[in-house]
Amino acid sequence: MVEIGGANPPQAIMSFEEAALCESLKRNVSKSGYVKPTPVQKHGIPIISSGRDLMACAQTGSGKTAAFLLPILQQLMADGVAASQFSELQEPEAIIVAPTRELINQTYLEARKFAHGTCVRPVVVYGGVNTGHQIRDLCRGCNIICGTPGRLLDVINRGKVGLSKLRYLVLDEADRMLDMGFEPDMRRLVGSPGMPTKENRQTLMFSATYPEDIQKLAADFLKTDYLFLAVGIVGGACSDVHQEFVEVTKFEKREKLLDALKVTGTERTMVFVETKRQADFIAAFLCQEKFPTTSIHGDREQREREQALADFRFGKCPILVATSVAARGLDIPDVQHVINFDLPNNVDEYVHRIGRTGRCGNIGRAVSFFDPDNDSQLARSLISILSKAQQEVPSWLEEKAFGGPGSAGPALGGFGATDSRKV
Ligand code: AMP
Repeated sequence: MVEIGGANPPQAIMSFEEAALCESLKRNVSKSGYVKPTPVQKHGIPIISSGRDLMACAQTGSGKTAAFLLPILQQLMADGVAASQFSELQEPEAIIVAPTRELINQTYLEARKFAHGTCVRPVVVYGGVNTGHQIRDLCRGCNIICGTPGRLLDVINRGKVGLSKLRYLVLDEADRMLDMGFEPDMRRLVGSPGMPTKENRQTLMFSATYPEDIQKLAADFLKTDYLFLAVGIVGGACSDVHQEFVEVTKFEKREKLLDALKVTGTERTMVFVETKRQADFIAAFLCQEKFPTTSIHGDREQREREQALADFRFGKCPILVATSVAARGLDIPDVQHVINFDLPNNVDEYVHRIGRTGRCGNIGRAVSFFDPDNDSQLARSLISILSKAQQEVPSWLEEKAFGGPGSAGPALGGFGATDSRKV
């Protein structure tokens, strides 16, 4: 189900051949094992190639990264861009921003993979690691800078990155980039000296969720004739994820977690909790119970965060306990299960968390512990997510939402989003 809003959208492509990619880019796409474009790529690539601004919404795991990387790389290669090597000032043609360090690093690695053997040089900058090393890497040449907002603004303010050649500004996880946590940084970025006005750059936004207030705000950053692309239901969960809910009290959660993990065995499982303390606590508890577990949250050193992800990715620790810092965008192969030990306080975060499984056509499973004392206000929006994804709605959850004492108030949409820098 594809919906395009806005005037005169270009025709979708049905194959990568139609995207008329340069030989080296075509080779890199095929080396990645991509045979045909996913729906967001079929529509997104020609929109971007035709120079239009875009606000794109597509399910988690649907190939959004390549949807913006490929047309940008194609254009930069066709123009034969050349970054000035060993220059103190770099003037990239594209900026990509994302809310977490791990996600921007993943995007950078994708960009590097597609740009391999071409004239385009991507560079990544993010917080928590040595700035000097990143600046030295920058000075070797930069056409695409991938960054988290703080470090990106830092290198711009230090005069290491100039914006006069900028053509593309990409906001990945755009709704998060524009929510209360990051909006001021985004305004600072577009207001930075030398930043082309929105009429003079192409602005691209991608996410699986777009609360309506954020959609309105996003229009401030886009040209008036931008296109809105929705693949599937805006804010909907990926239909390849089987969603289950278990009614629990907070005192039963640990026991239920052990039960769930006995079923998942050595299959890769992400366990989401709400606080950093809880993440440490549950990870220690699982290790004590002899489950090989690691954890990721905002209070861990960046080195530890990256090690935890690597241990999880390569199977040394098949269980990763995480706060919402790992809810968005991370593409780890073969994550079969997501367990919401604690439910998040807004439904969009739920959609992103369970989207760590069931990626790119694979089937995944999500189990969520629902504590009526804490989670009842989410019941209605969860029911809406479940029914839109054609999932079974437990009758007890319906009762919590619509009937009886203690039932939920009005449905919460994507409001009250957590600030990823605090998790
Ligand atoms: P993304 O939503 O960009 O994180 O992509 C989700 C997963 O799908 C990643 O593992 C991508 O490598 C993979 N992917 C993206 N596009 C394609 C494609 N056209 N064919 C096969 N796999 C793809």
